[in-house]
Amino acid sequence: MNGTMKLILIGQPGSGKGTQAIRLKEKYRLSHISSGDVLRKEVALGTDLGKAISSYMDRGEIGPVELITEAVLSRLDRISAEGFILDGFPRTVFQAGELKKRQRIDAVLFIDVPEDEVVDRITGRLTCPSCGMIYHLRRKPPVRENVCDGCGTALSRRSDDNEDTVRNRIRVYREDTFPLLDFYREEGLLRRINGANDADTVFAEITALLG
Ligand code: AMP
Repeated sequence: MNGTMKLILIGQPGSGKGTQAIRLKEKYRLSHISSGDVLRKEVALGTDLGKAISSYMDRGEIGPVELITEAVLSRLDRISAEGFILDGFPRTVFQAGELKKRQRIDAVLFIDVPEDEVVDRITGRLTCPSCGMIYHLRRKPPVRENVCDGCGTALSRRSDDNEDTVRNRIRVYREDTFPLLDFYREEGLLRRINGANDADTVFAEITALLG
């Protein structure tokens, strides 16, 4: 199924979704669609959508759900002949229902990590704005302080990676995203992955599952 697999990654903020998505994209030659990245780009460009959502993103809230759903789905329509990994979308049962009307999905990977672990991971997170590589201040620092090992770009911290916003994002995840697990369990698509392990072990578990 290389190149045509259509996957969804579900996991709370800091579950390692982004790291796994980059690896899956390379191994199976898939497009990686991160709704958070799509929305951060809209905010940076100052588009109407960006203006409508920036204050919600600062607070870690879901915001105008129809607008966001259409922005992500229309992007998927443009690449739907290829395989993809969705990261951060769908986040609600409404979004999952809209996605089902427009796309076939092969598997939903739920990366399960305890809450204390994710708070520590997120508050130390550093991201490369150019290639998307993710580091951690203490657990996985770059070789040169604050510079991406892969492409040499200065690393940045996401403005919503502070402790208050993180706790709110986890609360929002519990309320809105948790019901998604039931939705995909009923569809027979849900696969649980133990995300408390290191990134290599998590990746091995996922690839064994996908074959
Ligand atoms: P993320 O990068 O996935 O952690 O997303 C960052 C922020 O973007 C979230 O806290 C939300 O405000 C917004 N966002 C990302 N994906 C979605 C989505 N599928 N639906 C609504 N809001 C989203």
